[in-house]
Amino acid sequence: MSSKGLKFYTDAARRSAKWHSDYIKNMKKCRFDTIAVHGLYSMQEALDFNQGSTIEPIYMSASQAYRDSDEMEAALGYQIPTWCYSRIGNPSMYYLEGVLALLEGYGSDIETSCCATASGMAAIQSACDPFLIYDPKKPNQKINFVATCQVYGGTFQQFAIRKDQEKNLEWRKIVNSNDLKEWESKIDKNTRFLYGEMPSNPGQAFFDLEKVAKIAHKHGIPLIIDGTVASPALMRPLQWGADIVIQSVTKSLTTSGFGIAGAVIAKNNLSHLRIENDALKANFGMYIKALPNRDNGPNISPMNAILSLNDIRTLRSKMDLMSRSTMQVAKFLEKHKNIERVDYLGLESHPLHKLASKYLVLVDSEHDELYKKKVNRYGHLMSFRVKGTAQDTRDVFDALQRIWRATDLGRIKSVATIPAISTHSQQGEEGRKIADIPANLIRLCVGGEHPDDIIADLDQALSVLNGKKVKTSTPEFSAGGASSALLRR
Ligand SMILES: *Cc1c(COP(=O)(O)O)cnc(C)c1O
Repeated sequence: MSSKGLKFYTDAARRSAKWHSDYIKNMKKCRFDTIAVHGLYSMQEALDFNQGSTIEPIYMSASQAYRDSDEMEAALGYQIPTWCYSRIGNPSMYYLEGVLALLEGYGSDIETSCCATASGMAAIQSACDPFLIYDPKKPNQKINFVATCQVYGGTFQQFAIRKDQEKNLEWRKIVNSNDLKEWESKIDKNTRFLYGEMPSNPGQAFFDLEKVAKIAHKHGIPLIIDGTVASPALMRPLQWGADIVIQSVTKSLTTSGFGIAGAVIAKNNLSHLRIENDALKANFGMYIKALPNRDNGPNISPMNAILSLNDIRTLRSKMDLMSRSTMQVAKFLEKHKNIERVDYLGLESHPLHKLASKYLVLVDSEHDELYKKKVNRYGHLMSFRVKGTAQDTRDVFDALQRIWRATDLGRIKSVATIPAISTHSQQGEEGRKIADIPANLIRLCVGGEHPDDIIADLDQALSVLNGKKVKTSTPEFSAGGASSALLRR
């Protein structure tokens, strides 16, 4: 067999690049739901490469084969599109990354890139670490980053233990994220990025993203936003000036709860940042995927990529439904005599309601024939404080029957947790105090059930505080016929 030559492959790559970029340009003209349903997977691609499969295939292969040495050389030199090895990339991962990049950039002409990771925590590490680089010219420099302290418990640990304590990278905590002066006062020439979670889990802290982005850019550093709770169906931080978005794809995006997944989505061309790394600035998603993550290995598996992708298709309508139900549940709880306080950004009583309304808008609601205008939707996450002790709170929690007790959120099934003894237990009493997570706080995420049934469950659970005993029982045979409960007797 005679060699085809490198040029044969690089010419074909150029033609394909044009085809794909035209496809993406066309896809960008579509509405959010259409992009979520189709993403980068076209009928042409299905017929030519995937035996006509209407659903994106799961490529459970560690590596890719090449026709000859020329194709291999061109591929490994990144001269032609290649996925090469699944630690770095894989077509199944590519479809997920493509759709997430489009959805975060939706409604703007911002060019975006995405790197999908094995978890939300891996996404946070992948996004932050490239900025926390030691400069050999300044051996005594102490690097810092500025981040809100109302963050997911795992993030708190990654910042406090893995970075601050173990690596001597100072975490400068923002206690009141809505105070712009506090952000400004924490930044100096050794600050490498600003980081915020909004709305935060579970406290629903919120801040004026647009203004914080301006502060970051004044100092030539990026603003990284964890937008997990809202998802791109309700908020797209890149359009408000953020440079990089984190998604725990595990949550709102993979509503059915099939597995753990994460993503970093970034604006291309971050030339306004002062970091000296041209590849990073040109295409951050591609940079971390092909370089640091190639070497560290935190990228997503093809199986999880497709499971997540399949849930994303209906993201907008699910976020709408779950938000509306959460609002009903919040209004019910707000009036309940056994409740001390309800925190939900959708309630007018919430001090950040007005600010949140600037950012949390159901995408394309103005094109939805039900609404015909922009409508606010505040998501599925809320929290409430039981009027009583830590034990009273546990009693109410233990009485839940329809709502699942699980440290999870964004599910199609309603889930609740007591953060002080679960998601936020590791950060200790002091860490919980600054993040305002008392022992009587229950985090609730309302799912796709009818809200009447969720309200009924909460009502009966709260009635334990009136001295009522809740009866529960377990069948001796499971619905599937297994009888482990009987055998244990
Ligand atoms: C769960 C969560 C994470 C971490 O994501 P994993 O997929 O569990 O690793 C990060 N941020 C927020 C807001 C979360 O809720």
